Amino acid sequence: MVEQSVTSRNRLDSEEREQKPPIHDEEFWFTDGSAVVVAGDVAFRVYEGLLTRDSSVFRDLFGARRRSASAERIDGCVVVRLPDVAEEVRVLLRALLSPWLYYQTMSFSVVESLIRLGHKYRIQHITVNALERLKSHYSDDMETWLKAWRSMYEPGKPCQPADAIAAVNLARLTGTLSVLPSALYECSILPTRVLLQGAQHGDAGTATARLSLEDVERCLDARRLLSQDYLLSALRVMVPETSADCEDMQCAASLEVVLKTFRSGDHQESVLCRYDTLTHRSPLELIRPEPLCGPCQEMLEERHRREQQKTWSRLPEYFGIDVPGWSTRRHSSQETVNASDSETALVC
Ligand SMILES: [Zn+2]
Repeated sequence: MVEQSVTSRNRLDSEEREQKPPIHDEEFWFTDGSAVVVAGDVAFRVYEGLLTRDSSVFRDLFGARRRSASAERIDGCVVVRLPDVAEEVRVLLRALLSPWLYYQTMSFSVVESLIRLGHKYRIQHITVNALERLKSHYSDDMETWLKAWRSMYEPGKPCQPADAIAAVNLARLTGTLSVLPSALYECSILPTRVLLQGAQHGDAGTATARLSLEDVERCLDARRLLSQDYLLSALRVMVPETSADCEDMQCAASLEVVLKTFRSGDHQESVLCRYDTLTHRSPLELIRPEPLCGPCQEMLEERHRREQQKTWSRLPEYFGIDVPGWSTRRHSSQETVNASDSETALVC
């Protein structure tokens, strides 16, 4: 019965192929090409050696076809059909045939395609180069990541949902753990509906990117800790101690006013109860005191930066993941940050 259905399906596939021959790709159809790769309804005629040189998977695929007397052929070339989207295969061929493209700006969808197909077909140089691009955004260095994040998103606006989700999934696929803290953080600040249902994905927006249930749980659980960090950070930043170089007698009073507002609860809940700890505006901007003098302003900005760094160093802990090397990083500000813990006790 099974054999019959398989035979029947093969016959249908064969008939379908005869009825609907794949379209020759406009970009990759070399008339002297030695192999045809079909993805979806698109055929790419390329050079077998370029595909098999660095890929044991392509070597196996073409080897099996060549050993089969009944292997499908187009224009005399052995055909290998791939279960991938034609656009992604086109992206992979561009990287194989035009490696100088690596030196140009790549969209996230291109990076994603190269990582997925490079990993799938075991083409190491493709995977490694594309992963470097991924890591240049989802860096293990906070300042580098913040710079990349700010270049793509306005403060307060949500992240590009599918990119953050895809970054987590690519990190999982390839075991690139250093990408996870920043990528999971970006996911955790997505709307809950997106976390649960996924986000439209790909150039055509026809696919849906979703996190695994375990990673959704990690993001939701981390929100409580990130929110706590935001509140404590705000209190620490606003400790009413002025700079040693303070130039204005009013600075201490201004900071007291802000703290009084925090304690009174006479402000919108969203001011202090947030979990976009790293990417939201600093508390300095949220509740503007009377203008502080230059040295005090600089001092508070430095406090804020150290609080961000402290949260950053704890991201793996917040998401319940192990990222080798992350926890052993020591930042120059760490001692000062620890010192500010005791200040918080005084404030609270
Ligand atoms: Zn001052």
